[in-house]
Amino acid sequence: MRFEFATATRILFGLGVLREVTPLAAEMGVRPLVVSGKGVERVAPLLSFLAAGNLKPVLFVVAGEPTTNDVRQGVALARQNACDFVIGFGGGSPMDTAKAIAAMLTNSGELLEYLEVIGQGKPLEVPAAPVIAIPTTAGTGSEVTRNAVLASPEHGVKVSLRSPHMLPRLALVDPELTYSAPPPITASTGLDAFTQLVEPFVTPAANPITDGICREGMRRAARSLRRAYQDGGNSQAREDMAIASLFGGLALANAKLGAVHGFAGVLGGLFPAPHGAVCGRLLPEVMAVNIRALRERDPDNRALARYEDVARLLTGAPGAVAEDTVAWSAALCRDLAIPSLATYGITAADFPRIISGASRASSMKGNPITLTEGELAEILERAW
Ligand code: NAD
Repeated sequence: MRFEFATATRILFGLGVLREVTPLAAEMGVRPLVVSGKGVERVAPLLSFLAAGNLKPVLFVVAGEPTTNDVRQGVALARQNACDFVIGFGGGSPMDTAKAIAAMLTNSGELLEYLEVIGQGKPLEVPAAPVIAIPTTAGTGSEVTRNAVLASPEHGVKVSLRSPHMLPRLALVDPELTYSAPPPITASTGLDAFTQLVEPFVTPAANPITDGICREGMRRAARSLRRAYQDGGNSQAREDMAIASLFGGLALANAKLGAVHGFAGVLGGLFPAPHGAVCGRLLPEVMAVNIRALRERDPDNRALARYEDVARLLTGAPGAVAEDTVAWSAALCRDLAIPSLATYGITAADFPRIISGASRASSMKGNPITLTEGELAEILERAW
């Protein structure tokens, strides 16, 4: 057995830890580029904490899930203002934007050269500028991952900029920051976290560290996602989901994902669909088709026992079988009002290009079994 585990240099977790940011930020530099999402009022306390430490933040707002152009604009703004470090404050979108800007601030050349799938996938030559990642959703775990997911509108796909150099210097996880997330955002981001705990658990690239992290994360998400959705002020549920999200990030960065994320990257590049909601809608269908394919073609694959473990963990029933994961997660999606894929304007005519893109996606390589084109189409039909 050989494995490696890498994460953010430091992880600080707890209710109210945002209030500790001033001296931690001062260790990184003097002028941060602060990348935030649309809800600019949410970032105001952070800006005050930074100002209190005589740091001179420059604010950069990203409207939605980031594009390659957002990164180019952010780099230009950071250069104009001589920013020496970057803070990503918000959901996965601003955190990913911050990580990509920090990478391109120190590495020469054009962003596309470094992007996988649509570019040359050139490795980053030098470490990124320091990054502090502060999540306000419990979903992506981007605060501890080494990639940034960027949409390229001209290619119609979302791809990653990926490098060990992109691991944040500090992940500051304060569950209190997620209290304001409304139910639909709690639902979609929470399902992203849940998927990022299931896929790295059944992939052949799992290792003993990610296994432990996934088990604990799934346990917390299973008991708390519905509660966080129904009662956003439930501090125990929010804390569990912030841990589940963080653990999903730790797991995906050190194992692999699977077919859900293989599809999600393509769908998110072609249609205006929230990443987590797409993941949630696909998860039961991918599990159903994966389990059937494993039983038919590779019955000794250890992923079947893994799915059985997941089923026991989710249902609490000692006699649960792999297939029970499907009904459990489908019921969760129903309770969380996750819409079908057709809601986003996807039609059957789009299936061939979605399948072709998903087959090439890097996440697809982590799936426990290679799925046929027919099986990929079946997943889309079931989730549609
Ligand atoms: P997001 O960052 O796009 O935010 C979704 C919405 O929630 C936005 O409208 C935002 O303004 C709002 N929001 C955020 N925090 C809030 C709060 N506390 N209260 C109220 N509203 C709030 O969504 P996300 O799901 O966190 O991130 C999605 C992006 O992350 C996608 O681009 C996805 O591909 C990427 N992603 C990256 C990784 C990684 O490892 N880098 C992993 C998974 C997903």
